[in-house]
Amino acid sequence: MRVIDALPVQWQNSLMSFEPRHKKDFVLNDLIQLRVRKQDVLLSKAVSKTIYVEVRRKFEKAPTAQARFTDQFFNSPLDWKAIYKLPFKVAMDTKTCEFQYKILNKCLPTNSFLYKVGLKPSPLCTFCDEESETLKHLFIYCHVTEKFWLDFISWCNKLNISLDELTDIDKLLGIWERNEDFLLLNHLLLIAKQHIYDCRNNYKSTCPSLRVFNSKLNYIYQTESMVMKSNNKEQILIPNGGNM
Ligand SMILES: [Zn+2]
Repeated sequence: MRVIDALPVQWQNSLMSFEPRHKKDFVLNDLIQLRVRKQDVLLSKAVSKTIYVEVRRKFEKAPTAQARFTDQFFNSPLDWKAIYKLPFKVAMDTKTCEFQYKILNKCLPTNSFLYKVGLKPSPLCTFCDEESETLKHLFIYCHVTEKFWLDFISWCNKLNISLDELTDIDKLLGIWERNEDFLLLNHLLLIAKQHIYDCRNNYKSTCPSLRVFNSKLNYIYQTESMVMKSNNKEQILIPNGGNM
């Protein structure tokens, strides 16, 4: 019943020097103090969890991809906790969340990687055939994608979703709270990125287009509306206009 007694002595000693940082940490701190005073302690499930989180925190390492993004965008402070949470806040389906997870961990396969492992005959970009197809090139620097992003921005503005520009951070990590349409905009951005990626996977490798993006968006809207209706939840209103 005593979770702390069940821990290896080395862990117990490291927990003794533990300093509370968050509100819930005070529970653990009190528990340690009580144990030091040799008093009986009632251990709840929540306390076990707190101990688990504290022990795990000592062994946690930031993903290598995170350090590479931090180097890439060294001029901008990045809130990684919020960046990791964002896809789960704005998308309903696991496929979309997984897609952004792969981008954040730089493990979304592109021609540059597929060529190295012998699965593609060339590392060049599917759309422009001019430069190595890395994540950065595919979503930011490719002139074909760039044209799609310009169309995307003007389409958003046509729908009264205010969007002046898309920075490199916006395109890869998400748009941060610059306007009231922050959640909707990030949802649209995720679908747009999926559309770009899907285009390179097509049999004919077609270039990303707003027309195909719109039909995909319409399909997602219909599906999610049906899911919400069947769950008896209120329907989310998407602004009218454009090609929706
Ligand atoms: Zn390209």
